[in-house]
Amino acid sequence: MTKKTDSSFLKETVFFKYRLTVLFSMENIFMITKKNTPYLATPESYDTVSPLFRRNFRLYGEVRRALLSVTAYGVYEATLNGHRVGDFILAPGWTSYHNRLQVQTYDVTAYLKKNNTLDLLLGEGWCCGKIAYDNRGTIWPRHPMATLRLDLTYSDGTKKTILPDRFWTVSPSPIRFSCIYKGETYDSETKELWKKATVIHRDSPNLIPQEGETLREIAKYNAVSVLRTPKGETVLDFGQEITGYVSFKIQAPKGSICIIDHFEVLDKDGNVYTESLRTASQRIHFVCDGTEQYYKPHFTYHGFRYIRLTEWPVAVNPDDFTAIVLCSDLRRTGSFVCSSPLVNRLYQNVIWGQLGNFLDVPTDCPQRDERLGWTGDAQVFCKTAAYNFDVERFFTKWLADLSADQFSDGSVPAVVPHVIGGKDWSGSTAWADAATICPWELYLAYGNPGILAKQFGSMKAWVDYIRSTGDTETLWNTGRHYGDHLALDNPQNLNVPATNRFLIATAYFAYSTSLLIKAGEILGKDMKEYRKLYRGILRSFNEAYIRDGAPITPTQTAYALCIHFDLVKNKKAFGNRLAELVRQNGNRLTTGFVGTAYLLQALSETGHTDVAYKLLLQEQFPSWLFSVRMGATTIWEHWDGIREDGSMWSASMNSFNHYAYGAVASWMYGYMAGIRPTEEAPGYKKFLLAPVIGEGIDFVCASFASRHGLIRSEWYRENGHVRYVFEVPMATTATVMIGTETFEIGVGIHEFIR
Ligand code: BGC
Repeated sequence: MTKKTDSSFLKETVFFKYRLTVLFSMENIFMITKKNTPYLATPESYDTVSPLFRRNFRLYGEVRRALLSVTAYGVYEATLNGHRVGDFILAPGWTSYHNRLQVQTYDVTAYLKKNNTLDLLLGEGWCCGKIAYDNRGTIWPRHPMATLRLDLTYSDGTKKTILPDRFWTVSPSPIRFSCIYKGETYDSETKELWKKATVIHRDSPNLIPQEGETLREIAKYNAVSVLRTPKGETVLDFGQEITGYVSFKIQAPKGSICIIDHFEVLDKDGNVYTESLRTASQRIHFVCDGTEQYYKPHFTYHGFRYIRLTEWPVAVNPDDFTAIVLCSDLRRTGSFVCSSPLVNRLYQNVIWGQLGNFLDVPTDCPQRDERLGWTGDAQVFCKTAAYNFDVERFFTKWLADLSADQFSDGSVPAVVPHVIGGKDWSGSTAWADAATICPWELYLAYGNPGILAKQFGSMKAWVDYIRSTGDTETLWNTGRHYGDHLALDNPQNLNVPATNRFLIATAYFAYSTSLLIKAGEILGKDMKEYRKLYRGILRSFNEAYIRDGAPITPTQTAYALCIHFDLVKNKKAFGNRLAELVRQNGNRLTTGFVGTAYLLQALSETGHTDVAYKLLLQEQFPSWLFSVRMGATTIWEHWDGIREDGSMWSASMNSFNHYAYGAVASWMYGYMAGIRPTEEAPGYKKFLLAPVIGEGIDFVCASFASRHGLIRSEWYRENGHVRYVFEVPMATTATVMIGTETFEIGVGIHEFIR
């Protein structure tokens, strides 16, 4: 590998000129054989060094079409005659590797010459490198290996295929070390040492054409300032916490070392704070070769706003650094702005939370040694995610992995892809319910029953699992559950949230069963048995967990679940009590991962939107705006990740980019602006425009780019009145609900003054 190849990645014009996208159409895909697949294997002696495989070949005529299909255990970058093939970073992406491996196919015809060099660079990635807490998730093989086929079709119709064979060679590359968590070490002085490559044959898991979105570079940022910390360290601030990496330009004497450390926040004295990263050092170590060089990492990513130039051999010029944002290629669909700058920043933080964690898999966080597909986080955020961006493909792929990793008894792992070993924490309520909730949210947002058909077996297996594990068929009072993770309602012990875990479990049991019934009915299945089960669960829930008209643990979360999941008859009274609880607490929430997702909805559903607005606009801890006031640029894991006095929550678990509490944005779109899909005609064929005005906000403008066209909802306070503006796309209808009025509108832009 030469320096030249590297710099061609970075110069934007060159990079984008040669941008190739993955082909999705089946007819373009030459599948790699699954039985006895030939793999290019990393030599054992390479240890952590990335191998560079090379195949030279000559054309004997004009080639009409050349298609390159590649996949790997580990991650790969393919280059043909010095041109990077495709723009998928960390290809082939992250799937349940023992079950499914994505294959990318690219049209590389334009890169061919008479004499050709095809290069394949491999890294450890999620498959072979450290992932999860102690390598438990690492699966065989220990070292990366890749397979590919290059299908050449000559103008005269002759076909030739290049596979891994004895003509391939391999050399150590300058990437001496790469790890998703720890960063990358690149030694430009590495000497090429070519030898014959080893090809091994092994059966592959299901090799599937790429299902998810391409994980790619989506934006670039320059540093906004250079800081000198009180400890005397040099830090660049990019002004926004992002997920990605930093490219840089350097010219320093041969052998000089550059060390860059990535981190999220400064401590209260203004010094670098890296403790919360745990073992994920997020470090780039680069050895210079004396010439002017451009570098950006290949097989790692970081969650960061700041970088520390721990070693930098030349004078610091901030223009030499660019922060590059990585994210799955999602189409933005939602927009929201209102009269409160703090709420607008909160909304931006939700967007950044999604951008920072939708990297092929919906992850909990992008910085510490975790970055896993936590099912609970994905479940609570899924509705919001589908407002912000088009996530149908993204979640369809992840749900296929969820099904693939689901245990034979129907239990669902806590993280998907399942890499934290055994059945530890599998089947936890509110986490495993991603199996039913995510497909349903996709169906509502995009209107495609295909996702229900695809996931129905998994949804049913999950409900049947719950049914078989309680003391009775209708009560879920067994098992280990995360409960209302990180709730603040038990001052005696913040590690043990107050809401009874089995109350939550049975509440979700009811909700998941109700979604299974709806899915089954849409698919034309006989759901009689499950309707009976559902009635039984409701009865058991009320008998076991409601005493004297209140939940046995009368927390905000318990009330919110009873209301939002429709578990009790007297919802109105529950709503009144919930509103009272919030008021008694000084208009502050106490909810954790479970309750937060439904709190404002539950208040609005029972006529307490005024209280919901007070919670949203609350600036004192605990509240959404507290973190905004403290300077957050993403959503924090804890309500007090950084406290008023600048001290931090325990470093053992303190992420500053954790989207779960960002679920509040679904209330902003769905209630402040009032844009909501309907079950009657999902995918926004028929939708609601039911905005609710609130004290402290003077206007709201929101839009959602549905599959049918743009939906817009705006309201403005004007001279003692409220002016509403709605936009309805072609071939859809909207039910407008303003105060007590309800009426239908069709295509066009409509204005009402009330
Ligand atoms: C993760 C969460 C996750 C949780 C389970 C944490 O370590 O970061 O977001 O859902 O574990 O309680």
